[in-house]
Parts: sequence; C-alpha cells; structure tokens
Amino acid sequence: MSDCLFCKIVAGEIPAKIVYENENVLAFNDVNPQAPFHILIIPKVHIATINDIDKSNSSVVSELYLAAKLIAKENGFAQEGYRVVMNCNKLAGQTVYHIHLHMLAQRALSWPPG
Ligand code: AMP
Ligand code: ZN
Repeated sequence: MSDCLFCKIVAGEIPAKIVYENENVLAFNDVNPQAPFHILIIPKVHIATINDIDKSNSSVVSELYLAAKLIAKENGFAQEGYRVVMNCNKLAGQTVYHIHLHMLAQRALSWPPG
C-alpha cells in the first residue's frame, strides 16, 4: 500500500529504530512510547485491521507472537512479564491501519486498560 506509513517503514522510506527483523516480520520502537520498552511488531505484508485477517494471510499473525516471544527473551523480561495488544478500528483507538502488535514491558501495567 503506497500510502501506508508502516509499509513505508518496511520499504525503508521512513526511518525507524529496528529491533528485530525476519523474512515476514519487522519490529521497531514506537515513536510515542507508553512504557520504558514499547515496540510495534508488524507483518511486512499489508493487512489493514484484524477484520482483514483470513486463511490466506493468517500465518503471519502467529509469527508476530513468535517474534514477541523471542524479543522478550532477548531483552531479558520474558519471565518478569510484558503485554502485547492489537487495537482494531476506531473505538479501540487504532490510528495506523496496518496491523501491529504493541509490545510493552519494563513497568507494571494496570488492567483493564483505559
Ligand atoms: P494504534 O493507535 O494502535 O494504531 O498504534 C499506532 C502506534 O504507532 C502509536 O503507538 C504511535 O505512537 C505509533 N507510531 C506512529 N507513527 C510512527 C512511526 N513513524 N514510527 C514508529 N511508531 C509510530
Ligand atoms: Zn501497510
């Protein structure tokens, strides 16, 4: 998608602080961090929202979680704990329409979220 911010990050057209990358997944620092550790884990392929996941593209969703697991281990907070969350559409506060797993760590996180 030529007008998608995160597709542009995947293409290297917009800079980001990359923390993890493989063939299908990219993870980078959130520009407006809500925790000492706050990254976004995205598929390299464009999927606008959770509502656009189907059998043809769903395998990459599990790869987002596999990346989260690896990143948690690499950064030493796998046992301490962390949160991954994906917002869908307006009421959940989605602002970038390319699915992304927020990964927050290194502070206590309250529940329920606001
Ligand atoms: P959401 O509101 O769930 O769609 O989350 C979008 C996230 O993208 C927010 O946490 C923003 O801070 C983050 N964000 C927006 N632009 C950029 C960017 N250029 N690089 C990194 N993170 C970004
Ligand atoms: Zn995109």
